[in-house]
Amino acid sequence: MTPGSYVGRFAPSPTGPLHFGSLLAACASYLEARKHAGQWVLRVEDIDPPREQAGASDLILRVLDAYGFEWDGEALFQRHSIEQHLAAVAALADRCFECDCSRRLLAAEPVGELGTIYPGTCRDLGKPRGDTATRVRVGNAVSQFHDGLQGLQRMELAAGSGDFVIQRRDGLIAYHLAVVVDDYLSGVTHIVRGIDLMPSTHRQVFLQDQLAYPRPEYSHIPVAVHPDGDKLSKLTGAPPLEAPNAATELVRALQVLRQQPPDGLERATVDTIWGWAQENWDISALEGLRDVPA
Ligand code: GLU
Repeated sequence: MTPGSYVGRFAPSPTGPLHFGSLLAACASYLEARKHAGQWVLRVEDIDPPREQAGASDLILRVLDAYGFEWDGEALFQRHSIEQHLAAVAALADRCFECDCSRRLLAAEPVGELGTIYPGTCRDLGKPRGDTATRVRVGNAVSQFHDGLQGLQRMELAAGSGDFVIQRRDGLIAYHLAVVVDDYLSGVTHIVRGIDLMPSTHRQVFLQDQLAYPRPEYSHIPVAVHPDGDKLSKLTGAPPLEAPNAATELVRALQVLRQQPPDGLERATVDTIWGWAQENWDISALEGLRDVPA
């Protein structure tokens, strides 16, 4: 790879403040980009206003800044690319159909890693756009990608997902489509994020193929878990990251990411911690790990 041709990213949703689990994805994607002399794009995924928490976008940017992350260019906001999202929905029109199945109707269907597996109820009914969601037909597509940390991943989309929504009934663009379009618009070449998103990657590489976008490389890092095995998240009570704890939380993140920072590094400045981390970062310490104790 020529220096500078690597483009990584971190893409938090403003559904609440960042917590330690988000910090792991931020650190791993950032350090991997810097190690490759690449760029690191920060994109706030704010296309789902009903799930947004007031003030969360600002808080996220402020905390990342206090933790010493340096993103390339201005922070991006996903709501600014809605025109391009809609253009991508239009470009997929031949593969799409309208569906008015309610959640309740689908509740009896089998559930896969990505939720209910759509049984194809409206696929051939030619329903007009109205109070409907737009779904993309997966046909007999098999998604396959080689994950940098987790090895070969494969999913028969009909069995693992079924036809999935790219534009919601309320008109909002679905995450899978928005993320693929925005990664493409930023020229993202490498995606480093939590393994909880790995099943989603199958839908995303399917969409990249349909839209003839180049495929980024994926590396899914383990998620941090509580002692009882539950993933750290806002729902399981992970506290928000606080600016004054930057040094201790960064060093703890490096430990959890199996980087073995030296004793006492948490008493150094944030700059010194990043200096150590950039010099010593080795993502291969996470190979094959699906979860790590927080
Ligand atoms: N916005 C998503 C989230 O915060 C992450 C998207 C991604 O990394 O692809 O869970």
